[in-house]
Amino acid sequence: MKKATIAINTKLPRQDAYGAIAMPVYHTAAYEFETAKDMADAFCGRVLAPDYSRVMNPTVMHLEDTVKALTGASNVFAFCSGMAAITNALLVFAEQGKNIVTSHHLFGNTVALMNRTFTRFGVETRQIDLLDLDAVRDAIDEHTACLYLEIVTNPQLEVADLSALADIAHEKGIPLIADTTVIPFTHFSAKQLGVDIEVVSSTKYISGGATSLGGLVIDYGTFPVVNQRIRFELLFNVGCYMSPHAAYMQSLGLETLDARYRVQAQNALTLAKRLKEEVVNAQNENRPARGLVKQVNYIGLEDNPFHELAVKQFGETAGAMLTIDLADRKACFSFIDHLQLIRRATNLFDNKSLAIHPYSTIFGNFTDEEKQAMDVRPTTIRISVGLEDVDDIFEDIAQAAIHESKN
Ligand SMILES: *Cc1c(COP(=O)(O)O)cnc(C)c1O
Repeated sequence: MKKATIAINTKLPRQDAYGAIAMPVYHTAAYEFETAKDMADAFCGRVLAPDYSRVMNPTVMHLEDTVKALTGASNVFAFCSGMAAITNALLVFAEQGKNIVTSHHLFGNTVALMNRTFTRFGVETRQIDLLDLDAVRDAIDEHTACLYLEIVTNPQLEVADLSALADIAHEKGIPLIADTTVIPFTHFSAKQLGVDIEVVSSTKYISGGATSLGGLVIDYGTFPVVNQRIRFELLFNVGCYMSPHAAYMQSLGLETLDARYRVQAQNALTLAKRLKEEVVNAQNENRPARGLVKQVNYIGLEDNPFHELAVKQFGETAGAMLTIDLADRKACFSFIDHLQLIRRATNLFDNKSLAIHPYSTIFGNFTDEEKQAMDVRPTTIRISVGLEDVDDIFEDIAQAAIHESKN
């Protein structure tokens, strides 16, 4: 079956007592057993049955099973946020004296998790240019725990060459962990590109309507320690399993993910092309572009330096995140303040279009030097393109920009 079908038709873990067609929400902390032996078997992991909802819950398991069916993963673990998923995936491998090899271009809290939190526990982070494969090879040594990256970085929109980086990681005997939040797993296979463990913020595309937070660790089974540690150690001891209510909402979101994503990715491409055309025409006519948009960045545009690689890895769609650059921070603030349709909000891939100035928000607590090292510019606005009619999204950007140019 195709992904769109699997997403709606994954069987419930058990026949429901009432034949419920939607997965019921099992709002229970604990589960009763028939016998002492059944109880012992569940607690010791000899039988995979829920005993306590910090570790396993039928509603969450249904979401995990659906993702497993969609990705071909060996194990899927659902957590209460994307950050919880990332933390748990890294905790499998990171320990005192080890290092994580990664990029300068990372989600703000992921950088902070590595450089601030993990550093206190004796784990070093080596941030390098992942486009330089020799530098990657050189950075990895016998103490390297894993190679970690984001498939399309945010807000720089740098695309990692997954197969090449997976080859290097595997030569060195370490896993490649990839944050694949920005391109849904219904549209590309991280497994086929050599990724060992995928981490996803399911708050984004999967929840869809910004209904709930969630995160997934999608384990392809190449490093058996992942299943061992997460299932039998971290879920118990760290305790950030997804709640049944969030799993219910995210299962609903997952059912429509494929359809929503197609529209959002198409809207993003149309919007990027129109904005680009506007910028190019303005340059040719030697006049300011509508909205003072100086630059449009989207990996779906043919002139984007990563376009070819993006097509090779992700197929015909290129996600729903694009960025525009304006003259300076002041122009960005004025532009954002004049938006009437696009929401001033963080988050990505909501049904609604969203705009944010990453420099002053997501990266607001980093120093200017840190931001420069991460290529986060004060001139950049990130736009997450939603499900509205693309004409309306374009007009909103155009009017906010014109407004600015009059100031
Ligand atoms: C949002 C996001 C996260 C963090 O996910 P939360 O669900 O907000 O904890 C991690 N990585 C990327 C790429 C994200 O966009």
